[in-house]
Amino acid sequence: MRCEACRRARASLRGFSMDLCEDCFIRIYRRRVFHVIKAYSLVGRGDRVAVALSGGKDSVVALKMLKEYGADVFAYHINLGIPGYSDEMESISREFAAELGVEIHVTSLREEYGFRVVDIEGRKACSACGAVKRYLMNRVPRELGATKVATGHNMDDILEFFLKNLLSGNYAWNRKLVPHNPSEHPLVLPRIRPLFEVGERETLAYALLTDLPVRADRCPLAKFSGWKEIIYEIERKKKNFRVQLIRSVRELAAHMPGEGTVWRECTVCGEPTSREVCAFCSLRARVDAHD
Ligand code: SF4
Ligand code: ZN
Repeated sequence: MRCEACRRARASLRGFSMDLCEDCFIRIYRRRVFHVIKAYSLVGRGDRVAVALSGGKDSVVALKMLKEYGADVFAYHINLGIPGYSDEMESISREFAAELGVEIHVTSLREEYGFRVVDIEGRKACSACGAVKRYLMNRVPRELGATKVATGHNMDDILEFFLKNLLSGNYAWNRKLVPHNPSEHPLVLPRIRPLFEVGERETLAYALLTDLPVRADRCPLAKFSGWKEIIYEIERKKKNFRVQLIRSVRELAAHMPGEGTVWRECTVCGEPTSREVCAFCSLRARVDAHD
């Protein structure tokens, strides 16, 4: 079978709803990511972008793409203290940043705050972990001089969030499912998502084809949701389903009601929050209470 893009080389993989040769796949992948960076003004003059580098393939590719685009980037890694996982992710992140010639900053949750994600009781691991990451990924990069934070969320992650929010009635949360999420507070950095129009499998294939580090195992605390399989199943029957849906998700976001956050200062750490004590300080208090 011939590649559907160049019509010369033999097609060896499927991506973007097409049978492609390796060269065309790499070219189309880069073009899609660069299109998102440019079309949604993810990076502007004077921006210094902190890339949340977990060590997983998505964040690795996001960092590489932004660097190749010419953005002023540095990597930020959080060691969450998950046994059999976090130390290896930190090593991968440090090695990859060094290979790419990018500065990296690491926060060890255990060394700097005295607890690990697995020490938090009474709350689902991913929900507690998400709160820790949201807090540190804003505060630390901001203190290091970043103007934006980039994450490796890909198209399939966003579609999964969208469907879950829709079914649970959390419509307002869909407002944030855009490639460039502006700041709502002077101390909250805007979030950007360069992989907004490329999916998980395409990102994995890109990482493998370009010899980027890909760790086989996922976080041992990750739960399998099945949503991505459903999304791919539909795409098998409906060409370009994912990219059409993600563009609708982006357009719909502007019509979603805002959450009307009333900002205040956390009485413990002073960071912006909608509550008296921010989610991070509440988690720390919860860990201290169990000690
Ligand atoms: Fe954290 Fe859950 Fe992701 Fe593991 S899977 S890193 S616990 S959010
Ligand atoms: Zn706080």
